[in-house]
Amino acid sequence: MNAFFQLMWMVVLWMMVQHILKKVGLLRTNTPKDNGHRPDKTEEKRNLAEEIRTHRESIVDMVEVECCKVYMPEDQAYLIIDGPGKTHYFCSWECREKYLLENSQLKAS
Ligand SMILES: [Zn+2]
Repeated sequence: MNAFFQLMWMVVLWMMVQHILKKVGLLRTNTPKDNGHRPDKTEEKRNLAEEIRTHRESIVDMVEVECCKVYMPEDQAYLIIDGPGKTHYFCSWECREKYLLENSQLKAS
């Protein structure tokens, strides 16, 4: 008789544990539908990131390059940082090299 009651208790306890786990969400009964929704969300996030990036590209500062007197986006210009707040912009790597060469010659003479 004692063993029967113990078994009953175990069954009741197991049912209670299952009930709690279901409420907490550890035991999922319908996982396939949850997974099906995830690609949409990541795609949404990627589109948003792209939108922000294109927006950022459109508001990039234009700078006047010293070598050829033209304006170009700051992130596409080659630059030399010569002390705090003193930045030289160039349209190409060649122009930058030329400037460095001329500057070093000036310093040398
Ligand atoms: Zn140039």
